[in-house]
Amino acid sequence: MEELVERAARDLINSNYAIALTGAGMSTESGIPDFRGPSGIWTKDPEAERRAYQTYHRFLANPKEYWEEKLSGPSLFGDLTKVEPNPGHHALAELEEMGILKCVITQNIDNLHQRAGTENVLDYHGNAFKLRCVDCNARFDLEEYDLQGLREEGRLPPHCRKCGGVIKGDVVHFREPIPSDIAHQSLEEVWRCDLMLICGTSAVVYPFAELPRVARQRKIEAERKTEAGIYAVERVPAVTIIELNAEPTPLMAEGISDYLIQGKTGEILPGMVEEVKRLRR
Ligand code: NAD
Ligand code: ZN
Repeated sequence: MEELVERAARDLINSNYAIALTGAGMSTESGIPDFRGPSGIWTKDPEAERRAYQTYHRFLANPKEYWEEKLSGPSLFGDLTKVEPNPGHHALAELEEMGILKCVITQNIDNLHQRAGTENVLDYHGNAFKLRCVDCNARFDLEEYDLQGLREEGRLPPHCRKCGGVIKGDVVHFREPIPSDIAHQSLEEVWRCDLMLICGTSAVVYPFAELPRVARQRKIEAERKTEAGIYAVERVPAVTIIELNAEPTPLMAEGISDYLIQGKTGEILPGMVEEVKRLRR
């Protein structure tokens, strides 16, 4: 494993535009369960998964009822204000500060990358601390709306201050399209990167799971000196894809990732940052 961590550190140093893709595994060490791991929310409670698949439909059918339910029921993840970023989040923030990591595209809704100090975060599935207008995509901080007040006055759902559209939570539900701005910016990052670090995601939820697959298809032309001493131009993969996961994933089996470092992101990532610093000295 140490060899792979060193290899990853070298790959990061040699990259021009590294990005990270993160999933629920990134936050399990902060105490937020994932969905499909051994102690995952779905693994333990398949009924909760069935309900989650209906939330978006319920919002479309009756936004007022969706809001009333949301404001009265407990959150699936518990109180996200009580959790803290773990050493994995801090390590990614440090890689950004060092100028190596250019963007984090996360499936997590927990805001922990931002709280660890990462500046360029794309919340692919939204952010639990934000609201979003379904018409114009404007985002608002939760505190900008007095949701309980609106509820007491019977004035739910909230409406957008910019265009009057209906407001929902920013978190993207199953069957809800990814907000067009985030989908677009994420693809741009994937088209631009030459290194992708995939941390703690089972990569089975689409369309997020498409991002590493799109990256893998990208090729660049490179010159190679043949045995006869002639230069040949060949098409080679444009992106190095490194995976960090507690268990083997479909991406490795499909040949999407170049290599997998098996273990915990909260342990591997800080070690990788230390290795980058050592090699740069
Ligand atoms: P997932 O539950 O499908 O997969 C998590 C993956 O992380 C698994 O492959 C597991 O082996 C791995 N893992 C768990 N702990 C790890 C650790 N400490 N180090 C390294 N790997 C670890 O999660 P997903 O792929 O992110 O997709 C599920 C969906 O659920 C996402 O769309 C996301 O929006 C949502 N979700 C978000 C949160 C959160 O915001 N923290 C939590 C649960 C689910
Ligand atoms: Zn609006």
